[in-house]
Amino acid sequence: TEQYDLIIVGGGPIGLACAIEAQKKNLHYLIIEKGAIVNSIFNYPLYMTFFSTAERLEIGDIPFNCLAPKPGRQEALEYYRNIHRYFKFSIHLFEKVNQVLKLDNKSFKITTDKSSYEAKNVIIATGFYDIPIEMNVKGEELPKVRHYYKEAHEYVFRNVLVVGANNSSVDAALECWRKGANVTMVIRKNEINNRVKYWVKPDIENRIAEGSIKAYFESNITEIAANEVTIETPNGKVVIENDFVLALTGYKPDLTFLEKVGIQLSDDELKTPNYNPETMETNVEGLFLAGVVCGGMQTYKWFIENSRIHANMIVDYITSK
Ligand code: FAD
Repeated sequence: TEQYDLIIVGGGPIGLACAIEAQKKNLHYLIIEKGAIVNSIFNYPLYMTFFSTAERLEIGDIPFNCLAPKPGRQEALEYYRNIHRYFKFSIHLFEKVNQVLKLDNKSFKITTDKSSYEAKNVIIATGFYDIPIEMNVKGEELPKVRHYYKEAHEYVFRNVLVVGANNSSVDAALECWRKGANVTMVIRKNEINNRVKYWVKPDIENRIAEGSIKAYFESNITEIAANEVTIETPNGKVVIENDFVLALTGYKPDLTFLEKVGIQLSDDELKTPNYNPETMETNVEGLFLAGVVCGGMQTYKWFIENSRIHANMIVDYITSK
């Protein structure tokens, strides 16, 4: 069978950055992406704004044209589509990698839902946006409970409960409230998370202070029913009327996949994958990690601007071997 120098699992911004470096070094490579190109960004809320300025989302030194200081989802899709038009990647879309197995002759066998491949090196750049962190409460399986938020329209003139106090929850709560939803937030801690975009944080805090958005701090949902939700608050149990729950409680990388391909994860709750920070090579020789997947459960640790460098580190190392 045809042997690749490198197979890249995941066609997100960092997978593409790896491909650009591989292409520059004339490696015989292939990207395998289970969805559309930059599938995570495709699944973002429709009207989201990046916390990064445009130039910090750039890859391959290609300028990102953007009128506002910070681009939104649509402009980012435009940018990464143009990146592919320019570099003409070797890429398979809508093909999911199920297993990466090391063979005796030191190469890898990559099995997908459509085919199988052989490669000398593999980069896993699979991100973290495919698996929501569940609340594990009764009623979570109801169709009115959502772990992804796209846009407000469905929720307007309804009672919406937003769980969490991170960027995703805060953006959704504000947008739904502005479009006319009756929004309540349930927040585990006693404050809005400090990682919330600095220009958005005062907005949500003021809406809560003036009572436009009701917030239960130090509280947790304990049960979801068809028309109501039960919340455990510092002042006891509260039952409120409810039509929709936006459980934006975070996402996690596919840790089972990482373990299945032989990558060791730390024993603690952070599940940090084992890799050499100088080369990004994991405990499996020839198998590398790139992008946000490197953080394990610390999904906020890596983002585009601080992880696009992984592409150079890995390809430099592979070509120097
Ligand atoms: P991803 O973009 O997640 O790409 C991983 C890709 O791998 C996906 O396309 C996925 O479909 C694919 N994949 C997964 N498993 C498989 C498999 N088994 N087989 C084949 N393909 C697979 N970062 C910033 O730098 N700035 C921001 O402003 C910013 N804003 C964000 C806003 C939101 C709402 C979210 C959710 C995240 C934001 N991030 C931001 C983080 C951002 O998602 C990452 O920085 C960026 O997408 C990471 O790129 P990546 O290539 O590592 O992972």
